Amino acid sequence: MKTVHNFNAGPCVLPREAVNVAIEALKDFAGTGMSVIEISHRSKEWEAVMKETEDLWKELLEIPEGYRVLFLGGGASLEFLMVAMNFMNKKAAYLETGVWAKKAIKEAKAFGETVVVASSADTTFNYIPKGYTIPADADYFHITTNNTIYGTEIKEDMDSPVPLIADMSSDIMSRPVDVSKYAMIYGGAQKNVGPAGVTFVIVKESALGKVERYIPTMLDYKTHIENDSMFNTPPVFSIFVMNETLKWVKKMGGLKAVNKMNQDKADLLYAEIDRNSMFVGTAEKDSRSIMNVCFVMSPEYKEKEADFMAYAKERGMVGIKGHRSVGGFRASIYNACPRESVEALVKCMQDFEKENK
Ligand SMILES: *Cc1c(COP(=O)(O)O)cnc(C)c1O
Repeated sequence: MKTVHNFNAGPCVLPREAVNVAIEALKDFAGTGMSVIEISHRSKEWEAVMKETEDLWKELLEIPEGYRVLFLGGGASLEFLMVAMNFMNKKAAYLETGVWAKKAIKEAKAFGETVVVASSADTTFNYIPKGYTIPADADYFHITTNNTIYGTEIKEDMDSPVPLIADMSSDIMSRPVDVSKYAMIYGGAQKNVGPAGVTFVIVKESALGKVERYIPTMLDYKTHIENDSMFNTPPVFSIFVMNETLKWVKKMGGLKAVNKMNQDKADLLYAEIDRNSMFVGTAEKDSRSIMNVCFVMSPEYKEKEADFMAYAKERGMVGIKGHRSVGGFRASIYNACPRESVEALVKCMQDFEKENK
C-alpha cells in the first residue's frame, strides 16, 4: 500500500489499528462466523458493542449522570433541524461562525424567532466573535465549536445563561470537555470519531420535553433514548469502527494526552506558516483551530499556488486544497493524523521556499 499523508477534512484519516480491526470484523465478527455487516443488530454480541461504545464515550469525556449518548443517522445536518424541533418553543440564539452555523440557523428559522447574537461573516469567518450578549429568554444558545472550513475554534467551554448546544463535529474527542455546561453536544462521526454514517448526540435528559409541538417519532430524541439508539436499525458498521476509534483514544492515554498531541502538531504547523515568508495563515491567531489549519500564499507569491499544490502532491500530501470559500490550503490534522505527516508538510513548505524564493 502506498504511503500518503492524509489531510482530508472529512471523511479523513482514522487510526490504522481501528481500520485493521474493522477489516477482520468484516470477515468474522466476535467469533460468530459471520461478518459484522451480516449479524443481527438484536444479537447479544451486537448489543454488547452498543453498550461498550456508549460507555467509552462516557468514560473518555467524563460525562456526568443524567446524560445519554445516542448514535443516529442523518449526519450533523439533520441535527440542525432536530435541535430546533426538540428544544425551541419560541426563541433561540445562534453564534454565526461559518457555513455550518448558517445551515443550523436556516433550519431553526422554521421553528421560531432565531436571533444571531454575533457573526464573523464580515471577514469570511476568520475569527470567533466576542463580547456578545446571549438573550436570557432564549430556549437555547447554539454554537459551532470548530469551524472546519475556516480553521477557527472555540476552545473553552463557555458559561451560558440558557441551555448551551454545540455542534462539535470536527473537534469532539480532541480535548477534554466539561459536558455539564451543555444541554446537548452533537456531530457527524466522520472527522474525529469514525467513518461517515453515524451521528453522535450527547444529550441531557432533563433538558428535553419542554416544547409543545408534535415531534415525529424518528425526530424525537426521546424515541432514541427509550430504545437505546435501536428504534430502527443502527448504522452497524460505522458504530463498530467508532468503537475501535474510541478504544484507540483510550489507549493513547485519553483526552488530556490526545489534546497535548494535537496542540503539539498544530504548534508545529502554525510556527512554520508564521516563519515561512511564502505563506500566511487565514484565521486570526487567537481563534486558530488545532484541527483544521488554513493558510494561503503570501500576496507576493500568489501565482505560486498551483505550483505548491503540485509540489506537495508529489510528496504524498493528500487533501490540502482549501475550501473554495477560503481558497489556498487547509491541512486537517485530526487525532489520527500522525505527527510525521505534519512534519512532512512542514518540510515540504521549507523546501518549496528554498527552491522558489
Ligand atoms: C462536517 C460538518 C458538518 C456536517 O456533517 P454531516 O454529518 O455531513 O451532516 C456539520 N458541522 C460541522 C462543524 C462539520 O465540520
